[in-house]
Amino acid sequence: MAKLHEYQSKTLLRAAGILTPKGGMVETPGEARALATGIGGPVVVKAQVWVTGRAGRNLIRFADAPEAATTAAEQMLGQKIGGFTIDRLLVEERLTIEQEFYLGLIIDDHARAPVLILSAVGGSGIEEIARQHPDQMARLVVNVGTGLRDFEARDLCRRAGISGKLLLPLSTLVLQFFTTVRGCEARAAEINPLAMTAAGSLVALDARITVDDNAVFRHPELGIEIAREFDRPPTPLERAAWAVEKDDYRGTFYFVQMETEFHKSEGVIGFHGNGGGGAMINMDALLAHGFRIANFVDTSGNPPASKVYRAARLILSQPGIDGYFMGGSGVASQEQYHSARGLVKAFMDAPLNVPAVIRIGGNAEEQAIAILQRANGTFPAPVEAYGRDDPPDQCVERLRALTRDYVPSPEPAPRHTPQPAEPYQFETLTGGTVTYDHAVCRGCESKVCVESCDPKILSLEGGVPVLNISREEARRGGCTECLACEVECYFLGSRGGRIMLPLPDVIGQEH
Ligand code: SF4
Ligand code: SF4
Repeated sequence: MAKLHEYQSKTLLRAAGILTPKGGMVETPGEARALATGIGGPVVVKAQVWVTGRAGRNLIRFADAPEAATTAAEQMLGQKIGGFTIDRLLVEERLTIEQEFYLGLIIDDHARAPVLILSAVGGSGIEEIARQHPDQMARLVVNVGTGLRDFEARDLCRRAGISGKLLLPLSTLVLQFFTTVRGCEARAAEINPLAMTAAGSLVALDARITVDDNAVFRHPELGIEIAREFDRPPTPLERAAWAVEKDDYRGTFYFVQMETEFHKSEGVIGFHGNGGGGAMINMDALLAHGFRIANFVDTSGNPPASKVYRAARLILSQPGIDGYFMGGSGVASQEQYHSARGLVKAFMDAPLNVPAVIRIGGNAEEQAIAILQRANGTFPAPVEAYGRDDPPDQCVERLRALTRDYVPSPEPAPRHTPQPAEPYQFETLTGGTVTYDHAVCRGCESKVCVESCDPKILSLEGGVPVLNISREEARRGGCTECLACEVECYFLGSRGGRIMLPLPDVIGQEH
């Protein structure tokens, strides 16, 4: 889920009419001083980082004068937190607080609806507060059809023990909060603390909004770079992975780097999961055998072979890895031969120069294993394929043996494809180009491309493969990028078929 910074969250709340402390974002101690001077009183200086417990980590400082705000900014800016640097601070007026409340919303998957939570006691340690004061906390499952209605907001406040003069302003704020959160399609949001100040105003002192990953593309105004939960700025490879994922709705491709500074022979493995929970079991097996993991990748939810291909190319672009390991749940409903073909093409194009062990259990796994076993020997490094009945530990032991014995080729020969003499071409959904060299196809006996084409969009005409749909239909997704026409042609045909799939710039080549 994509988290918004506190400042962004407050900007959205302000736009809905909710008060927030006077202040702004700064990037230098000089800006902190100028802002504190402009505020003209005690201020709070807060690091804008996606970590919890900022107060306990000394990332929230109080300053009575501009000099103190400057000092706090000098000390915090440039500090490393969890592998990234604090580069922005929020400087806000410090308010005198009479009472603190908590207001939150989550999308409850069980209730299949948003749930509002209001507590008449707020502040840090809200979970503990909730345990101690259950009578002052109220929940409301909001009907998604009607939205939050005025009387429901008032009832929520009453059930949290709020009455009298506070009832109307607080229930109005609850409505404004709900409108904001719904407007940006958040999966979770909170104002904590929501303060009643000595001056009698309700003010959002701290706020967090987390937007649903699947809704991010509808909200360019939020400026979310990657719709994933990171606690640090994304790496170039993570940005590249997101560029693949954001434009291809088919299946899921999740990529996070776990280590970036490692070298050959340190036992660091490129990890490719194919099914979330099962992927974790396989990753644990690698760690238990003393390997380290360069990245966590998951391609699941029935991704096309082209997505698996791009995931594999990104994994292999990490120069220090000693091996490649795929492992998943073993019960995936996706047809695993698509993943197998994505891997085979990636291993041919890269080319593979570290041993790979592929544990590819799930639907049609025998076919997937056969595709991988047939391709073994084509690449500089060995590939072994296993299914759901092969325990992860045993597969990891095989990787251990292969990495121990394999000596990487210093300069593996890149894959060579001759220029087609008689090209027949069409484009694919993600900017790829399928090419059949009809001069080669004419003499091909197998014509395996036609029978292996998953959506059956190829026919033979005059003894050569052509589309039986329009080029535009193929480009709009009729060609599912199953990669069968290239991979099967390579092994069973006359090698007249080739697919070029654009890759992120960070890999630096197109195959
Ligand atoms: S299998 Fe390859 S060479 Fe044979 S017809 Fe198909 S694309 Fe052409
Ligand atoms: S033309 Fe058919 S076989 Fe080739 S990639 Fe597209 S869908 Fe797959």
